[in-house]
Formats: sequence, C-alpha cells, structure tokens
Amino acid sequence: MKVVKFGGSSLASGEQLQKVYSIVMSDPERKIVVVSAPGKRSSDDIKVTDLLIECVEQYLSNSKENAPVATLLERYSSIAQELNLPKDVMEAIEADIYKVLEGDQSKPEKYMDAVKASGEDNSAKLIAAFFRSMGTDAVYVNPKDAGLYVSDEPGNAQVLPQSYENLYKLREYEGIVVFPGFFGFTLDGEIATFSRSGSDITGSILANGTKAKVYENFTDVDAVYSVNPTIVENPKEIKELTYREMRELSYAGFSVFHDEALIPAFRAGIPVNVKNTNNPSAPGTLIVNERHNTNGPVIGIASDKGFCSIYVSKYLMNRELGFGRKLMQILEDYGVSYEHSPSGIDDMTVVLKEDQLDPEKEAKIVARIYDELHADKVEIDHGLALLMVVGEGMRHNVGTTAKASQALADAGVNIEMINQGSSEVSMMFGIKAVNEKKAVKALYDAFFVGVPAL
Ligand code: ASP
Repeated sequence: MKVVKFGGSSLASGEQLQKVYSIVMSDPERKIVVVSAPGKRSSDDIKVTDLLIECVEQYLSNSKENAPVATLLERYSSIAQELNLPKDVMEAIEADIYKVLEGDQSKPEKYMDAVKASGEDNSAKLIAAFFRSMGTDAVYVNPKDAGLYVSDEPGNAQVLPQSYENLYKLREYEGIVVFPGFFGFTLDGEIATFSRSGSDITGSILANGTKAKVYENFTDVDAVYSVNPTIVENPKEIKELTYREMRELSYAGFSVFHDEALIPAFRAGIPVNVKNTNNPSAPGTLIVNERHNTNGPVIGIASDKGFCSIYVSKYLMNRELGFGRKLMQILEDYGVSYEHSPSGIDDMTVVLKEDQLDPEKEAKIVARIYDELHADKVEIDHGLALLMVVGEGMRHNVGTTAKASQALADAGVNIEMINQGSSEVSMMFGIKAVNEKKAVKALYDAFFVGVPAL
C-alpha cells in the first residue's frame, strides 16, 4: 500500500486534477491520497493558502470588504466547473469558506489556523467528489475522525505520538482515502496547522501510521536536483539520496520537500519517492536510509542567505569552565537560537539567523558578553550565506575539502568560516552573501561538471 501526496501545483486546475486521477488509478497500491490546497496555475498566480491568509488579515483588521473572498471562491468554482462536478460540491465549499471566515476571532492565531486549514480541507472534499464522479469509490476523511492529533502550537504544530496508532485504521477503508494535508487537531479539539508547506508532513505521518511500502510525493519537477536550478542551468538530477543528505540539503534552501517531513518516514524506514505529476513515468528521486548508488563523494550543493555570526575571543578561553554555556545562556535569554558554533582555543563563533536580531537586541547581547564573560573582543558580522556541500562518505574521501576551497579561491570568494568536523555528511562554508551565486556555481563545476551521471 502506498501513500501518495500531491502538492498545490498538481491540484491547481481541473486539467491537473485529471492527471492526478490517472496517476492514482494507474497503480492499485495508491490507496491514501494526501492533498494540498490549490496552488499556483502560473508564476504570477496566488496560492489558495496565501489568499486565505490575506482574508484573515483583512477580517482581523475590520476591513473584510477588502478580503479576496471572490478570488478564493473562483479558484474552487473554476475547478468544479472544469470537472463538471455536481452543484452541491461548490455550494458546500462556499458555505464552509464563509463559516470559517465568520468563525471565532478572539484568538487570532487559532482563527488564522482554522481558516488556513480550510484550504486543504475543501480541496480534499472536492477531489473525493471528483473521484466519485469518475465512478471510483473515494472517501474524504477528516484528520479529527482519523485521530491525527497535534501539539497546541498554531502555525507550527507537531504530531503527537498516539496519532500513529490511530492512523493505522485508515487501511480499513474500502476505496481511496482522500485526506487533507497541513493540519491536525489538538487534544482540545481545535485545528492547528503545521508550518508552511506542511502537507508533506501529513503525508509522511500517514505513511508511518499506515506502515506504507512507500511514500510518493508528487510535485512539479522531475527530481531533486543536485543544485538550485535557478542558479545553475540544467543541473544533474539526483536519483537516490539518504534521509540525512536530504535533511542537510533542505536545511540550506532545497525547497522541493519539507525537511520536517522526513522524520516520520525516516523513523519507520519508509522510502520517499519525489515524483512529477506532469511527467509521472520519470523515476523521480528516491530518499532512503542507505543508498546503493555510490556516486561520487558529493551529492548536492545547497546555499542559503540571511545569517550572521557573533565572534567572541578571549585569551585562555579553552581553560575557562562554562564559557560556552554562559555565552549560549545570554542568547537564550533573548530568545535567540543558534545554528552552528565553530570554535578555536581562544575564540568561538556563533552562527545564527539574522532576522532574530535587531540593533537594540544586538547591542544588549554584545554588552552582556563583555560585562559577564569579560571577552577581549566581540564582533557581529552580518550578511552571511552558508554553503553546504553534502554527500554520505564525503569525510572518508581524501581531498574533498581541498577541492571545494580551491574552487572557491579560483572564483575569488573569501571563506569566512569552515565547519567540517561535526557532520558526517556535510561540509559548511560561511561566505559573504553577495558571493553566494558565484560560489555555488564554482562548487557545482568542481564536483559535477564532467563527472558521470549520478
Ligand atoms: N497549502 C499549504 C502551504 O501553502 C501547505 C502545503 O501546500 O503543503 O503552505
């Protein structure tokens, strides 16, 4: 039995839904279908989730007349019309949209989640109706009825462990189960959504709960590429990669697949197959525990901007008990989380997401590091990008670091920081964000150009 998830662009129009239907029908093992809300039909279109967010903002600021409700309704009604669905399908969706928008606004975050979740919920109802109209036995299942429970963290919910056992019962349904992605219910019976793009997470949870053979994730690209295709033209496709490699790549900007979605599949050892709705016969990318395809040492290159570093130096730091802890405590006191912390004998650098700081917070943090830790020097460096060179077994391969740093040197990119020691599967370089594209291209050329296909 397979769990199949379709992303927003696969569900954006009637034409796309016809493709989805034939993909599901072409394999009797495709039994549980997890769906997103309708996404973009073209690059200048607006996703249903974004329209819903805009509606909430207008409703909360008492200007509901400016909410794009008509556009929202039109997204569903155009699909229903294209597919010749019975009138009552759209009537029910319209009634539901007004009901959630007029719902309880006393807790804005919860109101926001309830409205956002309706995007996937109505999408699932519409798709189940479409499958039935094609003569296929299909049923919409609500996450509450299925027992998909999540923590009470609006917009960032986490699955609760008892859900897995509940979800196993989804196997008992006769026909195809159509399940809305992106949200679950708290133990108090309230809707809570996962973080953005969270339908991937729902699919992975269902694959784990139902002990599926594979979790197929249909999107709009043929494969996960070895580098961002907007930086390098026609990059190599990755045929097979491990969960750990995917995690590192998606951490640094690979947006094909939500990084949190890997956890449930990984825990149950269920392979994830990323495939293309618009080209379903392409094998796609398989994410597994251990890959058999050995490839070269490097499988992908990722990068992300928006980081800064706090550099702290103090003579004899290595001899001082608790220095690192105290430094991290100061950051914790300001609600700042950190990403990496490369260190030397008398120095420590803490790399963090830049948007957590503002000039006032920054000044207070620096002052406390001087006052409480008696540091010799504290410097904050803004505008950093992180480059990740990722591949299992890379560390056991002589010369990978040399090759990467040589490529960066040849491209005239200064390396601000290297972190190679801690991860088995990646090597990280900190550089100035202005050099990001140039650096990624140089690394791609060094590791992939002229190298046999993965
Ligand atoms: N519709 C939600 C979003 O746009 C969730 C998803 O599509 O996975 O973030």
